[in-house]
Amino acid sequence: MPELPEVETVRQGLLGAMDGATITKAEVNRPDLRWPFPENMAQRITGQKVLGLSRRSKYILVSLASGETLIIHLGMSGRMTVSGDPLGQFHHEHPAPQKHDHVVFHMDNGAQVTFNDPRRFGAMDLATSDDIENHWLISKIGPEPLGNEFNAPYLVERLKTRAMPIKTALLDQQIVAGLGNIYVCEVLFRAGVSPQRKAKDISAKKIGALVPIIRDVLSEAIVSGGSSLKDYRQADGELGYFQHRFKVYDREGETCLNDGCGTEISRIVQSGRSSFFCKKCQR
Ligand SMILES: [Zn+2]
Repeated sequence: MPELPEVETVRQGLLGAMDGATITKAEVNRPDLRWPFPENMAQRITGQKVLGLSRRSKYILVSLASGETLIIHLGMSGRMTVSGDPLGQFHHEHPAPQKHDHVVFHMDNGAQVTFNDPRRFGAMDLATSDDIENHWLISKIGPEPLGNEFNAPYLVERLKTRAMPIKTALLDQQIVAGLGNIYVCEVLFRAGVSPQRKAKDISAKKIGALVPIIRDVLSEAIVSGGSSLKDYRQADGELGYFQHRFKVYDREGETCLNDGCGTEISRIVQSGRSSFFCKKCQR
């Protein structure tokens, strides 16, 4: 499942194809993904100039000249592919249509953006741009982890009464937006905090220290994703799924990477998801 850095990488990859360009045609090949598409979606986006692309949590927000914003969520398996850019920024040839190409945007600069999603947990909706923060998918989401509202006093306040494990608390999208299983494992490893510790039992100092670690882990992944964009353009035009080296995630049984530790990485299941951690380094 794409996490925030992957979604941010997709957004950056879409900029050259969509930002400032006009959608000349939208192919909508089925009535729904996870939920039905908004009424008359194709008509409402056709002919619209794209004013900008931003991101809120794991949603890509495509601002249109009509005053509406197209909300795109990649779900579990959604992929965006860019092709046909006349400037040669992207893979030039349009790929043959694939099964599960559910939505195709044709841009006036010659680019084609294809949304393919075999499992159809992705979503698209249209909302009034001025009111986007009140959209039902977005209104309950906590602050952006890379934004100013997310800071040490905020996180300490939100966690000081929470009896749930810190791992579960950091996955709560109402506490902080866009953090998923992979990066929470990485954050807690870097912080030296066991995923099993109750949030309220961790000192304010240690909770506060999580904030810069969260920012660093996500920022490093975004930079890594950005540098991978060029390769993806040259390959098949697919955006966002880059190889990233994780220090603890998916390393069960392998040796802890902290100097001189030597302990095998453990895996446990919390809230139905795997937690990877070092029993010696994370307390
Ligand atoms: Zn260790």
